[in-house]
Amino acid sequence: TETYSIVIAGDGGVGKSSITLRFVNNVFVDKYNPSLENSYRKTLEVDSKIFMLEITDTAGQEEFRSIRDFQLNKSDGFILVYSLFEKSTLDEISSIRDKILLLQNLEKDDLKTKKVPIVIAGNKVDLEKDQQREVYAKETKELSKSWGIPFYETSAKENINIDILFIQCVRRIRQY
Ligand code: GDP
Ligand code: MG
Repeated sequence: TETYSIVIAGDGGVGKSSITLRFVNNVFVDKYNPSLENSYRKTLEVDSKIFMLEITDTAGQEEFRSIRDFQLNKSDGFILVYSLFEKSTLDEISSIRDKILLLQNLEKDDLKTKKVPIVIAGNKVDLEKDQQREVYAKETKELSKSWGIPFYETSAKENINIDILFIQCVRRIRQY
């Protein structure tokens, strides 16, 4: 089996651990230690082929910025998570993307066109029932279109669009 390493990144509190645990164990954990970084292995079938995924659930942007650089470089794919209810978390994934591209030694001019296996998740869509969004789908759709990468609105809580994040990430890795 081919093994791919996938990093889950984004601001604290957006639901990285929740998405990871939903995907790996099919559970929703209401309180997961926010400073805990963990890795998981899970097999996934994509287009009739089985892959082993090594998933790293990063913890906190500070750590992500400082000590994770080496790991970013080694990773095959990235799932960047923001919260639909906190606009600043969308800005954060934009800067994480820039960083990923730079770490992969891409030229600045290539930032827009280079194909890097990234998938975007706008998480907590289930909260829409009782809360006003801060980010509407239209905005992220335009962004993801200009970046040429897939975007989904997800809920770790209600298991909406979780598997497809990983499936699309694997497809991208294989494509590039
Ligand atoms: P992380 O810091 O990015 O790992 O975020 P966590 O996974 O720890 O989630 C932060 C908080 O948001 C926790 O209280 C979670 O229960 C909650 N949360 C995560 N995903 C969802 C979701 O899809 N829907 C709702 N309603 N809450 C979520
Ligand atoms: Mg976490």
